[in-house]
Parts: sequence; C-alpha cells; structure tokens
Amino acid sequence: MAQGEFKRREMSGGITTGGRELSGKIICGECGGVYGPKVWHSTSKYRKVIWQCNGKYRKKGKRACSLPHIKEETVKQAFVEVYNGMVENKGNFISVLEQSLAGGTKSDEIVVALAKTEEQLGARKQKIKKLIDANARSAMDQKKYDRDYAALAKEHNRLEAEIQRLKDEKLLWDTRLVYRQDFIRQMKKYGKIIPEFDIGLFNGIVETVIVKEKNIFTFVFRDGTEIDRKY
Ligand SMILES: [Zn+2]
Repeated sequence: MAQGEFKRREMSGGITTGGRELSGKIICGECGGVYGPKVWHSTSKYRKVIWQCNGKYRKKGKRACSLPHIKEETVKQAFVEVYNGMVENKGNFISVLEQSLAGGTKSDEIVVALAKTEEQLGARKQKIKKLIDANARSAMDQKKYDRDYAALAKEHNRLEAEIQRLKDEKLLWDTRLVYRQDFIRQMKKYGKIIPEFDIGLFNGIVETVIVKEKNIFTFVFRDGTEIDRKY
C-alpha cells in the first residue's frame, strides 16, 4: 500500500475528489472489460453515478454482457463493510496473512514452475539443434524434416511464451508480497473502523473490484487477498 494512506486518512478524515474516482478499478467478471461511469440526472438533486461494463458497446452484434450496471454508492458501501469487517476481525486477519508469509508463497511456487519450464525449453533447443545437424550431415526427407522442425519450433515458442507469462506472474506476486508486509504493518498500527467511504484508503489497498453474477463483488486487494461481498 502506498505509504501514508492510513496516516492521511487519520489526519484528514477522508479525501473528496470529483466524479471519476473509481476509474479503472471496476472490472466485469464476464468479459474482463473495465466498467466506466455514467452520470444520471446530472443537473438535479437526483444526480447519481452509475458504472457499467464498457465491453458491452465494443462488441457489436454479439450478445451483450449479462451483468447489471451498478451504482457508485453500492461499491463504496460494500468497500466500507469489507474494510470494517477486516478491522473487526483484525487479529485473525493479520495472523492469516502472517502465516501466508511464513509458509511457501505464490512466488516460491512460480519459481519451481519456471525452473521446470526452462528445463523443457533447454531440451527442445537440444532437439532442434540435433535435427538441424542431422539434416546437414545426411540427405533427409525434406518434407519430414520441415514437419519435424515446425513441430519443435512451435513447442519451443509455446514454452518461451509460458516462461514470459510465469516471469510476469512472479513480478506481480513479488509486488503483492511487499504490499502484504506493508498491509500487515499499517493494519496493526492504524486499522480502525471507518464511518464512511475513503478514496485515499480505497486506492491505497484495492487493486480491482470484480463484478460477478448473483450480486457479488470480489474485492482484490493489492496484496492478492480476495474478499467476496454480496450487495
Ligand atoms: Zn462485460
């Protein structure tokens, strides 16, 4: 979490910013699209901000996402409840997070998978080299050679892409690990019940809010913790 989010909240009692404060944070659980804001009755006292999946309008002709639009207030209220739930259950919550750090982390798992995939890639490289050498030494059936080469090259590229994906994932989880350590520290020090939505706190600790069917939000925190909330 960004250093100081908790402190800022302590001092200012919340920060108000206009309109687009949840931008980029709300994700559609059906298509993966980002929810965008729409202001209803913008000039009246019934002014209300609702968020809807932007993916709906991009894929023309296809069935739109079935997930409903949501009111901004609903997301904010759900965050307050989730956060206060964590604070009320602070002791348990922190101990679960601490245990997760003490045991094998997700990053450790990825390191193992990465080593295995790199070994497989090494083996494919050897095979490709052998095939090329064999082809240079003796007259091979060129159609068979091309076929074998294409198959090995395809597998080689798949493994390379997999290694890149694992490296990206490791980077994400390494970052989340730092957030988790910081989150534990900040929660111990400043974690208190909040009376209302706080954008500084929200941005400091929430990575995304995924809208799911059956009226459920999944709050994905920056440390990788996921908490479902009915709304
Ligand atoms: Zn969608």
